[in-house]
Amino acid sequence: MNKKEIESCKEAIEQFKISKEFCFIEENPYMEKFYDIVIKALKKQIPLQIRNPINMECKYNRKVKYCSNCGNTGIKNMKYCPKCGQRLDWKVYREEEYM
Ligand SMILES: [Zn+2]
Repeated sequence: MNKKEIESCKEAIEQFKISKEFCFIEENPYMEKFYDIVIKALKKQIPLQIRNPINMECKYNRKVKYCSNCGNTGIKNMKYCPKCGQRLDWKVYREEEYM
């Protein structure tokens, strides 16, 4: 996903948030749920940086990395977290490899 695609995704999220504010939820309670599902799904498409808190405490345990959204550790080299569907951003680790 490039920068332009991420921007489009963020823009879509904002539009859905605005639409949610203006829809008549009292008349159609399912609409609120619908908007929440769409916004949540779009947010998962925006790559979230992999967390490695152990990295800060112990340099020897750097291999432990996990999904920043749900905490799943079974994400090795994966584009999406198999547990929650969050798109993962490995950029920081790829950059480290070149250092
Ligand atoms: Zn996850």
